[in-house]
Amino acid sequence: MHYNVKMETLPREDLEALQLRRLQDLCSRVYANVPFYRKRFNEIGITPADIKSLADLKSLPFTEKQDMRNNYPYGLFCAPKENIVRVHASSGTTGKATVVGYTQRDLDNWAECGARSMAACGITARDFVHVAYGYGLFTGGLGAHYAAERLGATVIPASGGATRRQVQLLRDFGANALCCTPSYALHLWEAGQEQGINIKDLPLRVGVFGAEPWTEEMRRDIENKLGIDALNIYGLSEVMGPGVAIECAENKSGMHLWEDYFLPEIIDPITGENLPAGEVGELVITTLTKEGIPLLRYRTRDLTSLDYTPCSCGRTHVRITRLRGRSDDMLIIRGVNVFPQQIESMLIDEPALTPNYQIVVDRVNNLDTLEVQVEMNENLIADEVRKIQALEARLRKNIKEFLGVTAKVSLKSPRTITRSEGKATRVVDNRPKE
Ligand code: ADP
Ligand code: ZN
Repeated sequence: MHYNVKMETLPREDLEALQLRRLQDLCSRVYANVPFYRKRFNEIGITPADIKSLADLKSLPFTEKQDMRNNYPYGLFCAPKENIVRVHASSGTTGKATVVGYTQRDLDNWAECGARSMAACGITARDFVHVAYGYGLFTGGLGAHYAAERLGATVIPASGGATRRQVQLLRDFGANALCCTPSYALHLWEAGQEQGINIKDLPLRVGVFGAEPWTEEMRRDIENKLGIDALNIYGLSEVMGPGVAIECAENKSGMHLWEDYFLPEIIDPITGENLPAGEVGELVITTLTKEGIPLLRYRTRDLTSLDYTPCSCGRTHVRITRLRGRSDDMLIIRGVNVFPQQIESMLIDEPALTPNYQIVVDRVNNLDTLEVQVEMNENLIADEVRKIQALEARLRKNIKEFLGVTAKVSLKSPRTITRSEGKATRVVDNRPKE
């Protein structure tokens, strides 16, 4: 179902015409109001009037997370303080937090994108939506909250934490949809099992999961255990929050990115050159309508590709493929590039293991070491040591064969790896900082 059928199915020509108008307006606004951008434009000798086509975007400079940090907290704001009605900050997963501000119109647009996203997942005004993302500076909670409200659904603002109680709320209030991180969805399921509540038996039908990388294998696992459709939602506080892009229930294959608000590009993260559709690189987003803190060519560090092939759901907006992780998540282990999700894919399909894992990297005698710790399920633990050792050896061999790195695999007792209520910590890197 569509929330705004006209905009969601706008023909590409019209979409591009709208994007160009909004891009030109954006350039004029940041040039007039943000000294950082005016200086950048002047340095390369262009003015907003030089932007005559969407292709001219390429002549503009990138904006990086570091630029936001350098201008901490409000240096890149484009609207007068009295028009800013809310601030949020990134979770600071990769360093000092970045601060963003929203005008009332920004919040309206965010709710619009969110409502479209929830509708794309098959959620309707009749549904009860349980929001277990944290409410606070993190955009997850309030983002999902206003999205569901805009759609006309009933919000259950549970926020993060108090996991046992969340499961009881899911049962008692009969939520049809759940918003949280994919790792927390599994944690909720596990907490349910412990107190004799099987989430599969509840009215829950849809999960809207994001804020951290996850794999197709993990989706299958969640769908089987919880008995729901698990859909992928993408967003980041710098650009807006959750609802920048969403999978449609029809295809569950790539996330439609709302192109009337966001202009995407894919670049080679090393050279900064634009890459053609279909190639994997770093996602760069220009916010076309934002007033509080508009961003020109923001480098997200998230790795994905663009898919312009038509989608049978009728939405004309480009799809970004499942994120391959952040460029700064990539581990370099003795010269070999490894993404945590590659390891995740190998673990999840093992029936004797749980999806709880952690990757520990260290340096011993100047050599990088990689250890994969993963929890066994109850059945395996009761088994003989020999079987456990055999599974460890098999996983070690697979990792060596498919990823080309030597890893130590340690199977751990159930419930020994710390659960997260928000973004899971998949990597612990103990190597000294260069
Ligand atoms: P932080 O950068 O501090 O984690 P945010 O809370 O704004 O700040 O998180 C945004 C980031 O979360 C994105 O840039 C991306 O790396 C990750 N993320 C969000 N949604 C997804 C998703 N569906 N799949 C993978 N990663 C995601
Ligand atoms: Zn679609």
